[in-house]
Amino acid sequence: MHSLTDRVVIVTGGSRGIGRATAIAAAGRGFRVVVGYASNAAAAGEVVAKIEASNGKAIAVKCDVGSEDDIIALFKAADAFGTLGALVNNAGIVGPTSRVDEMSAERIQRMMAVNVTGSILCAREAVKRMSTRHGGNGGVIINLSSVAAKLGSPNTYVDYAASKGAIDSFTVGLGHEVAGEGIRVAAIRPGLIDTEIHASGGEPDRAHRLSHMVPMKRVGTADEIANAIVWLLSDEASYVTSAILDVSGGR
Ligand code: NAP
Repeated sequence: MHSLTDRVVIVTGGSRGIGRATAIAAAGRGFRVVVGYASNAAAAGEVVAKIEASNGKAIAVKCDVGSEDDIIALFKAADAFGTLGALVNNAGIVGPTSRVDEMSAERIQRMMAVNVTGSILCAREAVKRMSTRHGGNGGVIINLSSVAAKLGSPNTYVDYAASKGAIDSFTVGLGHEVAGEGIRVAAIRPGLIDTEIHASGGEPDRAHRLSHMVPMKRVGTADEIANAIVWLLSDEASYVTSAILDVSGGR
């Protein structure tokens, strides 16, 4: 099923994991996709090649969302690619498993810079382009939260959980702010999803190890999150805004 829009979606962190699955699924629904990545140019290039092999349109743009300059450059590249219709604030990091009394200021600042400030700055740039207040045609912003926002992740990464709690508040507030300007804003709270993010926390097998705690007794896949995201991006979700959807097997 192809959308009539043919508009551009930016997926930050689109090179791997949930972002990769989202980029491919969005291209399948007719979006021109800007695949953001932090450092893995090969992975981003593979996503672009896969989309192009299915007659889709995509470009890869290096963008560390912890850098405002990178974010400005990302949106300029998107402007040259077409009219922005959607943003998926997917890029996110965890730190190594740690208690709060062991965390450095640098770790916490980097967590907030990437997961919170980066998402808000990307949304700022998207609103400037999509809001009818600024002459735009409207659009959709999807933020990646986490069930960690509800669980708090004690003894693991409370800083990460707090960053996702901020994303939940941001989603509700921004959604209200731009609801009359043609922009819908929603968040997904994934549960334990099988991606490489767990290896970045020092525990590649974390999702599978904890899967017994999930009511559905299994981890989720990146595609299962991407399916929810592309539904929220679509007109089928036309009355959904300031909403947060758990995609977590019940966790
Ligand atoms: P992942 O497999 O670790 O992939 C991370 C992606 O983000 C990669 O494309 C990476 O780019 C990019 N990235 C990392 N740091 C970045 C930065 N500073 N600026 C821009 N891009 C950056 O992660 P994932 O599991 O797919 O997670 C995606 C989102 O879902 C995150 O917001 C995460 O918090 C959230 N989430 C994940 C889970 C889960 O269980 N996996 C659960 C709840 C929420 P490179 O390829 O260039 O490194």
